[in-house]
Amino acid sequence: MFSDLSLPAEIIQAVDKAGYTHPTAIQANAIPVILDGQDLIGASQTGTGKTAAFALPILANLNKHGALRCLVLEPTRELAAQVNEHFENLGEFTNLRSTLIHGGVGYGRQTEDLRNGVDTVVATPGRLLDHIGRGNLSLDKISVIVLDEVDRMLDMGFLPDVRKILNKCPKNRQTLFFSATMPPAIQGFADWALRENPAEIEIGQRRSVPDTVNHAFYPVASDQRDDLIVALLQRTNFESVMVFTRTKKEADTLTREIKKDHPYSVTTLHSDIPQRDRTKALQGFREGRYQVIIATDLAARGLDISGVTHVFNYRVPENAEDYVHRIGRTGRAQSEGDAFTILSADELPFAESIERFIGKKIERRKLDDFPYLYTTLLEDAPARKKKKAPPRLRRRRR
Ligand code: AMP
Repeated sequence: MFSDLSLPAEIIQAVDKAGYTHPTAIQANAIPVILDGQDLIGASQTGTGKTAAFALPILANLNKHGALRCLVLEPTRELAAQVNEHFENLGEFTNLRSTLIHGGVGYGRQTEDLRNGVDTVVATPGRLLDHIGRGNLSLDKISVIVLDEVDRMLDMGFLPDVRKILNKCPKNRQTLFFSATMPPAIQGFADWALRENPAEIEIGQRRSVPDTVNHAFYPVASDQRDDLIVALLQRTNFESVMVFTRTKKEADTLTREIKKDHPYSVTTLHSDIPQRDRTKALQGFREGRYQVIIATDLAARGLDISGVTHVFNYRVPENAEDYVHRIGRTGRAQSEGDAFTILSADELPFAESIERFIGKKIERRKLDDFPYLYTTLLEDAPARKKKKAPPRLRRRRR
């Protein structure tokens, strides 16, 4: 029960309003540690209630409106917006204020919010540094920092900016560090950013696909990839589907292809699309105005889009963890979801690496009555010599 977690009444009221009845595993584990002021490393999986796991105890510790004391850094604008919304909703019955800072939009509202005084800033690193440079905020009084999706920040080249930001914060602070993987670069960064002996919590089972997701590969020759995905869409009884492509260009081309003869409402999300349109696309998809969203990996991580009934991968993701993240968009919060991945011959090594990663063979399926040109791929590949599994996340239990 949330009432066993020593959270103040005004926070419990917001939890009730959000409709959360029981804390998720990460919330039960992390909330006491964070309330206690300890540093934390979390191996995070999305959809596990991670955001509330840090937002609730932070709001409790901030207690009442004062100076800017909490900084949350996120790799993408969409994630920052989502996390800020959690802070606003879960802090609704307190007088705490939070604001969202990211690039791609004007400075006006952000500057005004910062000048009016906030307790929490949820930001992407680049724009935050711009505001610091303009003298719009100071990090002198920061008491808690959340570094979210750090592996993603590393991929996107943000770590130097994050380092600069951390250097401007007081040394004596609480740091909460979330990353799905812990390669040496990230481990080294964590050692630098956190105090000694942080608590460590593994959130969810990173390597597993939720039981509620029914997932399969659809092998096909690569020149039939577009036809097969369109046929899959036609034959699937979906309410909402996310289609992931590898590149922005593929996302644009596929959007045109799907729009051509089909009655679905389709939108596209990738980083070359202006921020205003990205927000509109995501909001429209969330509110059900678009049935299909075609996205690059930008949209795959962490975004909480409830009610996605299907996820289609236009290509097999090259990174096995991306597969788990992407198909984690569906089958959230105990609802059923389907995830289909188009597989062509050149992608077999990626498919096998995903199977090694999750420790299970993924079913190959054939679409009935589809005019397949070549069928060799459809036969089960001969058993290969097992390769060594990639190293697991270093795991220390408290
Ligand atoms: P996250 O992993 O933070 O992206 O959260 C995934 C979804 O679970 C969000 O829609 C949250 O609002 C929801 N959620 C978080 N905590 C709980 C809870 N204790 N009970 C039910 N839903 C929750």
